[in-house]
Amino acid sequence: MHSLVWEAPRLMHLREQPQPIPQPHEALVRVTYVGICGSELSGYLGHNALRVPPLVMGHEFAGELVALGPAAAAARPDLALGGLVTANPLTYCGECLWCRRGANQLCANRQLIGAHRPGAYAQYVTAPVNVITALPAGLSARTGALTEPAAVAVRIGELAGSVSAEAALILGAGPIGLLALQVLHHLGAGPVFIADLDPERLAMGAALGGQALDPRAANVPQVVRAATGGLGVVVALDAVGAAVTRAQCVSATRTGGLVILSGLHEETSAMPAAEIIRREITVRGSFAYTPANFAAALALLAQNKLTLDPWIVEAPLADGGHWFDRLVDAPGNVSKVLLIP
Ligand SMILES: [Zn+2]
Ligand SMILES: [Zn+2]
Repeated sequence: MHSLVWEAPRLMHLREQPQPIPQPHEALVRVTYVGICGSELSGYLGHNALRVPPLVMGHEFAGELVALGPAAAAARPDLALGGLVTANPLTYCGECLWCRRGANQLCANRQLIGAHRPGAYAQYVTAPVNVITALPAGLSARTGALTEPAAVAVRIGELAGSVSAEAALILGAGPIGLLALQVLHHLGAGPVFIADLDPERLAMGAALGGQALDPRAANVPQVVRAATGGLGVVVALDAVGAAVTRAQCVSATRTGGLVILSGLHEETSAMPAAEIIRREITVRGSFAYTPANFAAALALLAQNKLTLDPWIVEAPLADGGHWFDRLVDAPGNVSKVLLIP
């Protein structure tokens, strides 16, 4: 089969590899669409300790279920060969303290498809059957491939808590920022401010109903405070992960409010700790999604409540390296690249 193999920083090649054979508890999926994730861009540049070359990345995928190992078939009589499926790419043990609490994304034994094991930048991929989900009737594989990033946004919305009629702020109009914007709107939040340095990304945020703020033209926390009676937003999401955006989120949040950190651009950064203390701001991380969040994301996509259109680009798997370079250097008017093996 064809696989897109990441071989060194900024180097990817289409290679011939043997088609994987599913283990007894695994499913084999013929990939029809697979997205490029922001975390894979840092991996591509060699900035990510989780990803070591040579590696087939790719964890946002949907496709056709073509085979099940014997134990997998016994465990999941609900899955039909030939049907469309997607996978929660963060595999989990189901037995540790966190799994028993339903927080499988924090599993002590978790593995990411496309990092710890071969991913979906290939014609076929295997996954443990317990992370496979059939797509609801009528949902295309193209939309199904958005379930993973949509689930990240659903988790953020869950952690945001009660936001009905409350102001919110999102820093970063990449796919997670754009999806979180729609989730917060769905939960009744408004206005939702959104900021991004890239004018084309910011325009996507505006087109999806966000109050667009250009950080080059305005001091974002000042504008947000002025627009909320001097208070600031109830919840601010950092979907970038830079020191400056993390600090801006604190500054734009009302006293007693919540800052959610999701972006992973910088491993560590200084935070305005005294302000966090004196204004009792809660700062918390949001990582991936629970199985319940994943199911909720699938339902929202099936109801057309979440979209990244009309800015999705479809490209052949062989052009993946070009699109990695493009997304790293100047993403422009692209919300998500979906590769087609
Ligand atoms: Zn992802
Ligand atoms: Zn576990």
